[in-house]
Amino acid sequence: MRQISDLDVAGQVVLLRCDLNVPLDGTTITDDGRIRASLPTIRALAGRGGRVLICAHLGRPKGDDYPARAAGGPSLRPVARRLGELLGREVAFAADVAGPSAAQVAAALGDGEVGLLENVRFEPAETSKDDARRGELAGRLAALARCYVGDGFGALHRKHASVYDVPALLPHAAGELVLAEISVLRRLTEHPERPYVVVLGGAKPSDKLAVIANLLDKADRILIGGGMSYTFLAARGLEVGRSLLERDKIGEVAGVLAQAAARGVEIVLPVDLVGATEYAADAAHQVYPVTAFPADRESLDMGPATRELFAAKLADARTVFWNGPLGVFEFPAFAAGTRAVAEAISKVAGLTVVGGGDSAAAVRQLNFPDSAFSHISTGGGASLEYLEGKELPGLRALEDA
Ligand code: ADP
Ligand code: MG
Repeated sequence: MRQISDLDVAGQVVLLRCDLNVPLDGTTITDDGRIRASLPTIRALAGRGGRVLICAHLGRPKGDDYPARAAGGPSLRPVARRLGELLGREVAFAADVAGPSAAQVAAALGDGEVGLLENVRFEPAETSKDDARRGELAGRLAALARCYVGDGFGALHRKHASVYDVPALLPHAAGELVLAEISVLRRLTEHPERPYVVVLGGAKPSDKLAVIANLLDKADRILIGGGMSYTFLAARGLEVGRSLLERDKIGEVAGVLAQAAARGVEIVLPVDLVGATEYAADAAHQVYPVTAFPADRESLDMGPATRELFAAKLADARTVFWNGPLGVFEFPAFAAGTRAVAEAISKVAGLTVVGGGDSAAAVRQLNFPDSAFSHISTGGGASLEYLEGKELPGLRALEDA
C-alpha cells in the first residue's frame, strides 16, 4: 500500500477522506477523538506543502435529495471549527460537497492550508448501491484534486463513493491513521496470544450477529452484554420484559449459540440485570436475576453479579477486543457495567483493543485515560469486519495501483 511519502503533494490539492463522524449533542461535539485521530495525516500533508481538502461524513442525513438533506443536517460546520482549534489555524469550510463552493474553496487553498467539504452524505449518491450514481459523484470529487489520501478508517468497510470510487480515479495513498489501525488489527488476527476474549455490547444484535458467527473460529471466549444480550437471553427462553429485543433474530441467535457450543467457544451472558421503569436517566431501577426479570421492566445495564463474572472471564486474557457499551452508559446510573468491563480490560496483561465510536466515547466519558488500553480504534464496524476476515472495500481501493 502506498503511503503519503510516496505521493507528490507539494503545491497540489489533496483530497483527504477522513472519519470525522463525531457524536453530537445538538451542534456540540461530545467526543472529538476522531478529529484528534485525523490530525497526524492532516499535519503530514500540510507539512509537505499539500493543499489539504478534507471530505468526511457526519451522522445519517435523511431525505431523498441534496436540498432535503442539507436542510435537515447535520452540517460539518462545528467540526470545521473544532478542527481549526486543534490545528491552530483557519480551516476553510465549503458550503457544499462537490459544487461551486467546494470548487471555490479548493481553488483558494494555499500550500499547507486546510479546507473541509460539507457532509458528503448530503449527496445521496455517496451511499448508493448504483455504481453509475456513485461514479458520477466520485468524478465530481476527484475533479477537485490532483491526488487522494484515504484515512477514514471508520468508513473503510463501506463501498461508498468517497471511500471506494474516488481512489480509482486519482493517484492515491493510505493515511497514517489507516496504517496504524490496520497494523493493530493484524496483531489481533495473526496468532493472537490466548486466551483471546471478545466482549460485545451495543444496541442491536442484527449489527453484530455475523461477526459473532465469524469470531467463533478465532476467539476462545465471547462475552455478550448491553442491548444485544437480551435477544440472546430470550433465545435461552428467559423473560426480558421491555428490554431491547429483536424478536425476529431469536432463531438466528439460537443457531449461533448452538454453533458456539459445538465448537467449544464459551459464550458468556449476563446473569443479572438492572431493570428500570423506563428509558430515562432518572428512572427508578432495581437488580433482578435473569431468571426472574419482570415483564414490565426494561434493562438498561447489567447487574453486579454479571460485572464480577465478566471481570473474572477477562482476568486471564492475553488478547482482548471490545466493541459496544455494556449498558446505557450515557445515563450515569446505568454506566456501571461498562465501567466494570473497561476496568477489567485495563488490567489485562496483553493486547487490548477498544473499537467503536460509542465505545471510545464511553471510556473517555468514564475518565479512563487512552493509555489504559493498547489501542482505541476509531472504527467499530470497520474493525469488526476486518476481524471477521472480510475484505474492506475502502482498503482494497487503497491497495489497488
Ligand atoms: P459502537 O458505536 O461502540 O460500535 P453501538 O453503536 O453498537 O456501539 O452501541 C452503542 C449504544 O448502545 C449506546 O448508545 C448505548 O446506550 C446502547 N446500549 C448499550 N446497552 C444498552 C441497553 N442495555 N439498552 C439500550 N441501549 C443500550
Ligand atoms: Mg455506535
